[in-house]
Amino acid sequence: MTPVPPAASPTDAPIPLVDLKAAYHRQKDEIDAAIRAVVENTRFIQGLEVVEHERAFAAFTGTRYCLGTGSGTASIHLILAALGIGPGDEVAVPAHTFIASAEPISWRGARPRFVDVDPVTGCIDPDALKASIDGVRAVIGVHIHGRPFDLDAIGAVTAAAGVPLIEDAAQAHGADYVRADGTVVRVGTYGLAAAFSYYPGKNLGAFGDAGSITTNDEALYEKMRRLRDHGSVRKYDHEVVGFADRLDTLQAAVLNVKLPRLAEGNERRRALAALFTEKLTGVGDLWIPPETPNRRSVYHHYVIRTKHRDALHAYLNERGIGATIHYPRPVHLQPAYAFLGHRRGEFPNAEAWADEVLSLPIYPELTEAQLDRIVAEVKAFFAGR
Ligand SMILES: *Cc1c(COP(=O)(O)O)cnc(C)c1O
Repeated sequence: MTPVPPAASPTDAPIPLVDLKAAYHRQKDEIDAAIRAVVENTRFIQGLEVVEHERAFAAFTGTRYCLGTGSGTASIHLILAALGIGPGDEVAVPAHTFIASAEPISWRGARPRFVDVDPVTGCIDPDALKASIDGVRAVIGVHIHGRPFDLDAIGAVTAAAGVPLIEDAAQAHGADYVRADGTVVRVGTYGLAAAFSYYPGKNLGAFGDAGSITTNDEALYEKMRRLRDHGSVRKYDHEVVGFADRLDTLQAAVLNVKLPRLAEGNERRRALAALFTEKLTGVGDLWIPPETPNRRSVYHHYVIRTKHRDALHAYLNERGIGATIHYPRPVHLQPAYAFLGHRRGEFPNAEAWADEVLSLPIYPELTEAQLDRIVAEVKAFFAGR
């Protein structure tokens, strides 16, 4: 047997962007048992674990309904399909986001209408939306990096225009918005419907592709329930032409073990973000994500900005720190959307985010020693300039 190499000392072991292995080992026995139970009872499709997850996630979020789906992207698509979005329609979506916020619009044969973002939060900008909302059939707001977009400001614009607001909550499970009167509104309860992703690295992550939709609208829920499963709620009784976008029972079983730890994981992320902010404020030309007390981020990403982004990114990666760029190119400038004919300069705030942002590793299992090492390397980079 080959000897096991000595473990790298914690001071120089690589620090990944997210540590899925550490997360698994925290709950290994429970997860293994949950997976085994599904394998033993073989209810791989629409098993009881799916129903259980839908009930638990609706309760966590505070909505009447939750519908398990195959992915966050599928969730957005099912919402748009249920709303009847189709060829000739336009749907507003921010330019600073992951492309999955926009792709389902194109799958419907509709066209994304990109909107610039707020320079401070990176979220869809209410004034920019107001200026470009005429004629759109729906608006998708994105709680980007885990921070809620300004629900009441955006909601006022969509309400005045009479169009439905969809929340892309793929990065923001459990994030809260605090209204002017102090009422707390959880992400996923405000819009007509919200899309969540359980992609493995998300704040609530499965062991593969998975997602869900939350809504309080019964009619929309019933439509989406059919669309997700070949247009049927009773086997071989197909009322409409649907899709195959169900949540796997195995994934639901994993999620059911992990969901009870989500709130605690989010709090840990917030504590780590506060530490980063305390230790990195004033270093080099760094822009630090502001804490917005009325929009409690769950820090899916901890995003800093600097004019020296590419050099800092390379410097950290060379030293084993898995910093990464979310996202290097705004969606309107992606080759996939070249056919829309957008030019650089059209959405300057989104473009500035793409040019300057860098995400530092953040996840509940990150230790303070690891955080200190990341901070030390960032400081060393700027000291050398
Ligand atoms: C991850 C993500 C999605 C897509 O979710 P998948 O489960 O990967 O399909 C959509 N929007 C945003 C903002 C995301 O981060």
